[in-house]
Amino acid sequence: MQELPSSVDPARFALCADAIAEAARELALLGWTPATSSNFSMRVNDELAAITISGRDKGRLGREDIMLVDMAGHAVGTHARPSAETGLHTQAYRRLPHAQVVLHTHSRTQSVASRLFAREGVVRLEGWELQKAITGYTTHESVLDIPVFPNTQYMPELVARIDAWLDAGKPLHAYLIDGHGIYTWGADMAEARRHLEALEFLLACELDLRRFSA
Ligand SMILES: [Zn+2]
Repeated sequence: MQELPSSVDPARFALCADAIAEAARELALLGWTPATSSNFSMRVNDELAAITISGRDKGRLGREDIMLVDMAGHAVGTHARPSAETGLHTQAYRRLPHAQVVLHTHSRTQSVASRLFAREGVVRLEGWELQKAITGYTTHESVLDIPVFPNTQYMPELVARIDAWLDAGKPLHAYLIDGHGIYTWGADMAEARRHLEALEFLLACELDLRRFSA
């Protein structure tokens, strides 16, 4: 049972939990969250985020499957266990003030692309009209780099690599983890969904290009 701290308006928590559950259901229908994988979160206020509880079927989430964590990734007001990757969500909220929603999925396209581009360490997207779906991009002529970080079960290592990318001043709209999946975010659920859908499409196009130009 999620007990809400006094700083959290129950209506605000319900709105976040419902938005996460609805998005998760729709992304599960697309086959992007196989075998209870993937996790989703939304910023509730400056100190807390709502996030999916570990191990739940993402196609069947209700409010009781969403919990609160603080920005260090610790559970708040519940004995439930947040996703093992909670630290990546809270890092996004700490480092990217505009991020209100973080989406992480494991689609087949995302997984294959992450393996294929791992050696280069980046997927360079250039010349695709759909790059304009990423906030801040107004032309297909711009370059959109999606880094690919090595997978690890030790989250601080991954957090450090992402911190290093941001500390170098490089733009970051999403990242892939090798053999694993994608993380992206947005200023609201609609923007985060648009980023995720555009990147899924663009990665599939890059895979097709490689396939047909081999
Ligand atoms: Zn994952």
